[in-house]
Amino acid sequence: MGEVLVLNADVQPYRWNPLSVVSWKWGIKSYYLGKIDVLEWYAHECRSPSTRIKIPSVVILHEYHRARLRVNFTKRNIFIRDLHRCQYCGKAFPVIELTCDHVLPRSHGGQNSWENIVTCCRGCNRRKGQRTDIRPLREPRELDYWEMVHAVKQMQITVPDPRWQQYLQWPGELVKIRHPHFL
Ligand SMILES: [Zn+2]
Repeated sequence: MGEVLVLNADVQPYRWNPLSVVSWKWGIKSYYLGKIDVLEWYAHECRSPSTRIKIPSVVILHEYHRARLRVNFTKRNIFIRDLHRCQYCGKAFPVIELTCDHVLPRSHGGQNSWENIVTCCRGCNRRKGQRTDIRPLREPRELDYWEMVHAVKQMQITVPDPRWQQYLQWPGELVKIRHPHFL
């Protein structure tokens, strides 16, 4: 993750999923180009022999940009929709231990779609195999952007600056702070 949180002109993150975060270099460049305002600065400054440059932590766009509200059909988003829980045994797993399962197997004409793909642990994936009589705990469906935001905010997040929390309003117990390398 980068170091700079980008807010839209309405003081909401420009994008929630994935969260709109950019590198500190982009932040500094955009600030000097007059494209953004800075709401929070890091205490650290970049120094060269001739100048000191402050590093932005939270920036806001001057103009409101309408974000694209379509949710991409990706493995990552399937896992988020299902809150990283296997849809057969109901247990939560780290991403690396998850896979996707076709509810109606491909061999039976099952499609790659929001309605036919669910998050699955490897054990259940093996057990289910080509069977068609095992159903997921919840009927899978496509979520809209704001339903995905709601889901994503139930996941753990690592941020570089505790002050982001006032803009993100993420559940406190799910926020981890990892200070950026330049601090
Ligand atoms: Zn399982």
